[in-house]
Amino acid sequence: MTMPFADSNHDALWLPFTANRQFRDSPRMLVSAKGMYYRDDKGREVLDGCAGLWCVNAGHSQPRIVEAVQKTVATLDFAPAFQMGHPLAFEAADRVARLAPNPLNHVFFCNSGSEAGDTALKIAIAYHRLRGEGTRTRLIGRERAYHGVGFGGISVGGISGNRKLYGSLLTGVDHLPHTLDLRRNAFSRGLPEHGAELADDLERIVALHDASNIAAVIVEPLAGSTGVLPAPKGYLKRLREICTKHGIVLIFDEVITGFGRLGASFAAEKYGVVPDIMTVAKGITNGTIPMGANIVSDEIFEAFMQGPREAIDLPHGYTYSAHPIACAAAIATLDTYAEEHLFERAAALTPYFEEAAHSLKGAPHVVDIRNEGLVAGIELAPRQSKTTRAYEVFERAFNEGLLLRYTGDILAISPPLIIEKNEIDRIFETIGRILKSID
Ligand code: PMP
Repeated sequence: MTMPFADSNHDALWLPFTANRQFRDSPRMLVSAKGMYYRDDKGREVLDGCAGLWCVNAGHSQPRIVEAVQKTVATLDFAPAFQMGHPLAFEAADRVARLAPNPLNHVFFCNSGSEAGDTALKIAIAYHRLRGEGTRTRLIGRERAYHGVGFGGISVGGISGNRKLYGSLLTGVDHLPHTLDLRRNAFSRGLPEHGAELADDLERIVALHDASNIAAVIVEPLAGSTGVLPAPKGYLKRLREICTKHGIVLIFDEVITGFGRLGASFAAEKYGVVPDIMTVAKGITNGTIPMGANIVSDEIFEAFMQGPREAIDLPHGYTYSAHPIACAAAIATLDTYAEEHLFERAAALTPYFEEAAHSLKGAPHVVDIRNEGLVAGIELAPRQSKTTRAYEVFERAFNEGLLLRYTGDILAISPPLIIEKNEIDRIFETIGRILKSID
């Protein structure tokens, strides 16, 4: 039996991205999970409106994944990945590479989205250097971007709250403008109509620094953590064209958008715009075991394979890169997605989900609703108070048995792809009802 919250030393655990003292006053404790539901420590069912943390795309405790993990932990609990391999690692890489669009055919494993982000930036800079373009070191991120919490990730990321405590960060970083434009695009359904021209800001940065100094651009095809910001129509294509024109590596952070969230394997596939490197995590193992990866183009990979055969081609890696249990979980996860046609299911459910989300237009405090695939953001008007309205909705919803996410004034909904229509209704009805009852 686990120790109940009341009996633990609460200060022993320091929760990430949490108001720890506030949390201890009204803790939310999850003790089990199955399918679309968590169960909390009071025995209540909690509908999972955000796939855990945008990661449990196939629903909780999928038998195939559980079995793969159990089997692997009993047969190959750990294997070093430096100068060593194991069959599950090769199989998992092959499966991920097959799912990714061409020419993204090479997979470098790590353990999280943050590690994947920092790895991608290092690969991009090293790639240019190997090709004799060592002056290409500048990195371009975007305002309101989230690429995890490594120093690379927060440097190219665009969230001041995640940056301001941590000193000077990486030097040589610029940011594109974010793409949220409530004046022109409020209550968009799917990709916003206006804003493709915001990609042209990259030309301004190139003019300022010269392409010979720029290594890479990193963007999320849909910024999730900062409040669900889908890229405007044509924006990613324009970014791709400018990067190609100037020899800049384009990195898509598909940590949220990968593995079915948008109703396709990846945003790159859905929009027909292929980056040079894709970072993934979360849905790669259905959240069961930590894993991240970089999926890298033939051209970049080949550049690293040109040196002496006995030289280490990429001096980078993690103790737990290609962890056998994570690899087993990834293979079982991809099997589950395919056999249950979950990406197609997400695509088919999207119109219903969109309709349900937009039914909240006109509800109290709602200033915008944004959606794409099975993800929606509901932006609420700011208020003068210690907590935002979105936090209050999040807290009340949990007490009513619904798990949501909030960031500032924005609620985010991103359920497992196995969700049923009546559960979609319940999510938005609950939010609508709570909105009517708050100041
Ligand atoms: N990139 C994106 C787009 C993310 O949404 C996240 C996590 N929410 C990360 C990177 C970081 O992933 P992790 O928390 O696994 O390090």
